[in-house]
Parts: sequence; structure tokens; C-alpha cells
Amino acid sequence: MNQQSLSSRTTNIFDIPISVMSMRETVEYLSEAIRTKCVHQVITANPIIVMAALEDAAYMSVMQQAELIVPDGTGVVWAASRLDKPVAERVAGYDLLHELLREGAPLGWKAYLLGAEPEVIRIAAARIREMYPGIQIVGERDGYFTDDEDREVIADIRAQQPDLLFVARSAKNQEPWIGKYKDELHVPIMMGVGGSFDAIAGKNKRAPELWIRLRLEWLYRLLKEPSRWRRMLALPKFAWLVLRTKRRV
Ligand code: UDP
Repeated sequence: MNQQSLSSRTTNIFDIPISVMSMRETVEYLSEAIRTKCVHQVITANPIIVMAALEDAAYMSVMQQAELIVPDGTGVVWAASRLDKPVAERVAGYDLLHELLREGAPLGWKAYLLGAEPEVIRIAAARIREMYPGIQIVGERDGYFTDDEDREVIADIRAQQPDLLFVARSAKNQEPWIGKYKDELHVPIMMGVGGSFDAIAGKNKRAPELWIRLRLEWLYRLLKEPSRWRRMLALPKFAWLVLRTKRRV
């Protein structure tokens, strides 16, 4: 599927084009991008990210220039069906990360892991090697480097020529960072993965299946990490905006 046909596979949430593809279709689309070496910044959108874009023009511009935005949060799935057209299903970033590694293992895809604390990234890389033996991890580096070190980080990624670059440096840093350097990095799939390395390393557990099924993953995270309450104020704001917009249509 090329970029042109992709545009018919998006739904609009406040001028942000969100993919309506299922998980399977997304993995196939991204596999094709790897095969053809076509650069893709993948953003996994949740209401917090959408609100950040609405409140910050620079962040919005990064999102609008991303090649693929998938509906990571249940709030985004809900908003899509109210505002424009429904998405096929939720495509959670954590699940997409695993699906891509599973898909790439028999094909020997090369992955570069960038982000999280040094101990976390070391354990996460070891676990990924164990779980997906065919994947070649060509780089692993923690996410605590300064802007002055960007050049050195980019040079190493370019030298390793990965197929996949996963960046875990919190949403407010990782998406703008990838957006700023994606042309130089020239990696087929570059994706911000937030707390995924922590989850893989067993530092932060993902919500139990029942909470996810009840669409309460956000509440689980809030209860586990109460310090997140401030950024979670974006959730009611987002819901209110969606409801108000629907009434105007
Ligand atoms: N992180 C990082 N560098 C930073 C800030 C965060 O590598 O400068 C890592 C952090 O260790 C964690 C991940 O980014 O593994 C997600 O962090 P956080 O939960 O703060 O992000 P958010 O929930 O905003 O995506």
C-alpha cells in the first residue's frame, strides 16, 4: 500500500489523521515499508498526545508530518467513531512493538533500541533477544543523553542501519526528536514506545488483561503511578472536546 492509498485509510481527529487499519493490516503495511526502505515515523496516539498537539503548534506539526499515526488509546478509538469514521480496532503501541518483532524474527530484521534507564534497556534487550531470537539487536542505548550528544547518537544509528528504531524517552521528547532527525536517520520504521522497555524489563507491569478489556488501562496506570494525575487531566478535557464537537456537527 502506498502513501496515497494510506490517506483513504485514515480518520480525522481534530486535524490529526489516525490510521483505521487493523493490527494485522498495520504490520503488513509497515513490513512493506521495511522491504522498500521507505521512511516512516510511527506515532501511537492516545488522548494525552492529541491534547498535547492541540495545545502546542510545534507538536501538532510533528504529528501532521508523521507517516503513520495509530490509535493507541481507547479514547482515540471512541473519538474516531463519534467524529469521523471508526477505526478497525485499537492498535496499542506496546502490542505493535511485539507484533513487529514477531513478524521480523524469521526475516532477521535489525532493531535499534534507544531509551529508558541503562539497567532497564539492558534487561529489555536481553528479553527481546530471548523472545525473538531472529531479531538482530544492532544497538541499545539508554535515553538519558543531552541535546549535545544527539550527533553521536545519530551517527551510531546511521552506522548500524537498522530496520526498526524504537525510542522510549517519554512522549513529549521522543516524537519531536524522531520528527527532527528522521530524514537523517533514514530508518524505515521509527516509533516512540514510551514506557514499553520498562514493561518488557518487568519494571512497570502493563495492566492486567481484564482492565484492558474493560478499557480501564488508563485508570490502572493512574493508580500505580499517582504522579501521573496532572498529565491525565488531558483525558476529561479530550472527552469534553469530542462530545462538544459532536453536538456542533
Ligand atoms: N525516558 C528516557 N529519557 C528521558 C525521559 C524518559 O529515556 O529523558 C524514559 C523513561 O526511563 C521511561 C520512558 O522514557 O522508560 C517513558 O517515560 P515516562 O513514563 O515519563 O513517559 P510518558 O508516560 O510521558 O510516555
